[in-house]
Amino acid sequence: MPHRTDILDNQMVSEAVRRALEKWFAAVEPVDHPRELFHAPRAQALKKEIVRVGRKLWQREYVDGNGGNISARLSPELVICTPTLVSKGDLRIEDLSLVDLDNCLIAGNRPRTSEIHLHLEIYKQVAQAQAIIHCHPPYATAHAIAGLVPQPNLLPEQEVLVGPVALAPYETPGTPEFAKTVLPMVQQHNTILLANHGIVCWADSVSHAEWCAEVIETYCKTVMIASHLRLSLPQIPPNKVDELLAIKKRLGLPDARLPRLQSGEQKPRTSSEASLESAKGNGDVKLPLEKREMEVLVSIITAEILRATELRR
Ligand SMILES: [Zn+2]
Repeated sequence: MPHRTDILDNQMVSEAVRRALEKWFAAVEPVDHPRELFHAPRAQALKKEIVRVGRKLWQREYVDGNGGNISARLSPELVICTPTLVSKGDLRIEDLSLVDLDNCLIAGNRPRTSEIHLHLEIYKQVAQAQAIIHCHPPYATAHAIAGLVPQPNLLPEQEVLVGPVALAPYETPGTPEFAKTVLPMVQQHNTILLANHGIVCWADSVSHAEWCAEVIETYCKTVMIASHLRLSLPQIPPNKVDELLAIKKRLGLPDARLPRLQSGEQKPRTSSEASLESAKGNGDVKLPLEKREMEVLVSIITAEILRATELRR
């Protein structure tokens, strides 16, 4: 009889049939091997999110050719990642691979992204990181080429979701040396400009990592436009920046202006049992950006924008 993964890995199996088979397999045979986790419901949900976000990156022109890559942490030790030589606009669920933190291939049919080293180094360094996106949005990448970071404290969204911008030195893409360029700053910055290359963002989900890419790109673009209107740009007052930092702290987002992440917040790698539980969806890590907190954040930022608009009148 063919093995479960042989059936589920078969590209001839339609999505509807795959879903039905997964349910049946889950009922008759418990998941007990990392390769099997690749087909568990939580993994399937992450794969769909990666494919959806890949399309969004391509539509927003943040990736070009086969550029850019996306990954998501399935468990503390396992990562789902995009393949090499595929446009992010054309991604399919069956293109994705599963690797461990030592870059050993666990499951998948295509060669994984050459930038996997960058992703794995960040996952090893930052326990909070649940998803990573690397892409080349033009305005942020233009800053990375110029070796300039935009000045801080001009827009509340940037301060809360990203914060002061970091710039990592150039290294040849795809190499272990390139992966290590972000390590000195990745604990305190969820979004980093990569000199002469692009950006990398980590977050608690693939969708939120894409938000970081949108926020930094919009910030770089808007500040460039504003700089053409006026040389000296008025900043958000320091006491109001403190209020934004207080929101950021509550949301559990990193920032170089806040004390370094407490060691207690660095969740140690758990045993393989906990890893299996997490990947099955029974032991999910609590995400810092809850819906209620996002609503509070949006209302505070909206009030801040309205207040600034009133001041200008
Ligand atoms: Zn790149």
